[in-house]
Amino acid sequence: MYNSKIDNKGNIITGTTAILIIAVILIVIFAVNSLNYIESENTKTIEGENFKNIIDDYDRNIEVLGRESIDSMTKKVYDGHIILNSRKEVKKALEKELNKKNEEYKKKYDIDIESEVLSVESSSSPWKVEFKVHIIANKGDNSFNKILVRNSSIEGLKDPLPYSILHAFSGIGYEGDTIYYIKRLYAYLFFHNVDASETYFSATSPLYIKKCPYDPYIHHGDGNTLDNCLKNGYFHESSDGSCYLCRLERKGVCPHYGLETFIHPHFPGQNDTVSCVDHVVFHDRYNGKRLNPLNPNSLILDDAHKKKYGLM
Ligand SMILES: [Zn+2]
Ligand SMILES: [Zn+2]
Repeated sequence: MYNSKIDNKGNIITGTTAILIIAVILIVIFAVNSLNYIESENTKTIEGENFKNIIDDYDRNIEVLGRESIDSMTKKVYDGHIILNSRKEVKKALEKELNKKNEEYKKKYDIDIESEVLSVESSSSPWKVEFKVHIIANKGDNSFNKILVRNSSIEGLKDPLPYSILHAFSGIGYEGDTIYYIKRLYAYLFFHNVDASETYFSATSPLYIKKCPYDPYIHHGDGNTLDNCLKNGYFHESSDGSCYLCRLERKGVCPHYGLETFIHPHFPGQNDTVSCVDHVVFHDRYNGKRLNPLNPNSLILDDAHKKKYGLM
């Protein structure tokens, strides 16, 4: 009986030890697995971070490449090409640039990116063009599938309107930051039966899109504001003037919220001729009067524009 008790105790002890050993083994297995899990999660997090950075970097390119694609169309206009559908052409140009980027990113980061430009449109601000791009990207366990909406600034690009309407090599030119119409604008206005078109002999207008800082515009009548605006060649927001994309398509007016600038006359001519705001010269063609009849450099403006700029 005694022996069997010991045996029983011994069995109990052996049993407990075995349970303990199994428990320790299980704990060790669990701990090792946990460490592995944490390590692989860390690797995943690092990979995820890395992937996110690549996508953010790619995203920033869209704005820059969008602007370059618009600029490439403006260059075409200045080289004498006619752009019939600027949105379609800019879209094609951007798609080509993004495809190049996709190849570059594949080589650099081993990431698969597919991009499709869904639309190129005038935005609610006339200083920006809106791009919608569908991006699908995959690298290892990470993936990205989203439609990105990005705006590219058109400030600092050349104004396409004078060249799209009058055509390059037709006798206009530019130097520094000014477009010189020489005899070309006179001939254009004469052709459109504008009275006293000779007043626009040797007229000039700004070459680059620059946003006028004198906002609200009604203050152009204060002190030297108008002179400074003309000297710097600023553009203004206008619901009548055409947007940048429509300027590429030789449209003086369009349904989008757009821009207008002054075409500066420098010839004595007559005081009663077409108002010198660009959408009036290139599309509407209604008359205005010189602000100062004795000064050949004085603007010729209709009452509505005089009022807008506080020059009445
Ligand atoms: Zn201004
Ligand atoms: Zn437009």
